[in-house]
Amino acid sequence: MWGAKTPRIIQKTFPNITWKKNEKNKNIYLTFDDGPCSYSTDWILNVLSKKNIQSTFFCIGENAKANPKIIDSIIQSGHIIGNHTYSHTNGALTSTQNYIQDIKKCEDVIPYTNLFRPPFGKIYPWQIKTIKQQYEIIMWDIMSCDFNPSISNKKLRNNVIKNVEKGSIIVFHDNKLAIGNLKKNLVEILEALSDSGYEFKLFRGNAKEV
Ligand SMILES: [Zn+2]
Repeated sequence: MWGAKTPRIIQKTFPNITWKKNEKNKNIYLTFDDGPCSYSTDWILNVLSKKNIQSTFFCIGENAKANPKIIDSIIQSGHIIGNHTYSHTNGALTSTQNYIQDIKKCEDVIPYTNLFRPPFGKIYPWQIKTIKQQYEIIMWDIMSCDFNPSISNKKLRNNVIKNVEKGSIIVFHDNKLAIGNLKKNLVEILEALSDSGYEFKLFRGNAKEV
C-alpha cells in the first residue's frame, strides 16, 4: 500500500469511506485487524484492560467461528467488533458478488456490527456503494506495519507516534505475525500517545448495541 501514513490525496479520492474522524479534541481510534487469535488476542485484551482503553477489533469470520470464546471476551471487555470478511478476501481480486457473499458469511458469525474494514484496504468504488448500504467502511490514516517481522522497534513506534493527529485511526494486527512486535512495542506506544494528551475513543455512531 502506501506506508505508515495514508496520503491525503488517497483520502480525498475516496471521501465516502472513513480514513480518520473529524475531531477538535485529541481523540484517536485504535483498531486491531485479523483476529481473534489464540496467540495474540488475550495478551492484547490484557494490555488494553490495564490501560483502560477500548478498541475496535476487525475480525475475520473464519477466525471468529473457530474462537467463539475469544470473541466473547473481546465483547465482554467492552470493545467493539467489526466485519473483516469471512476469509480475508481481497476485494480487488474478487467479483463484487463473491465479495459481498464473503461479507455476509462473516455476518452469520458476527451479526452485531455495522463497521466494515476491507482486507488489505483493497476495495472498488462499486463495492463501496453496495457495502455502504449496511456498513460504515473504516479505513485508517496510520498503519503501524506491526506485521513486518523485520521492522525495528524504533520504526514501528515512530510510524504511529510521529504520524498521529486528532481523529487518527490506527491499525495494529491481532495475529501470530504481529504479536512479537506488539509485545515489544504496544505498551510503549500507548503510553507515548497518552503522555502527548491523546484519548482513545470508540466508534459509536453506527455500531449496533450487542
Ligand atoms: Zn486484515
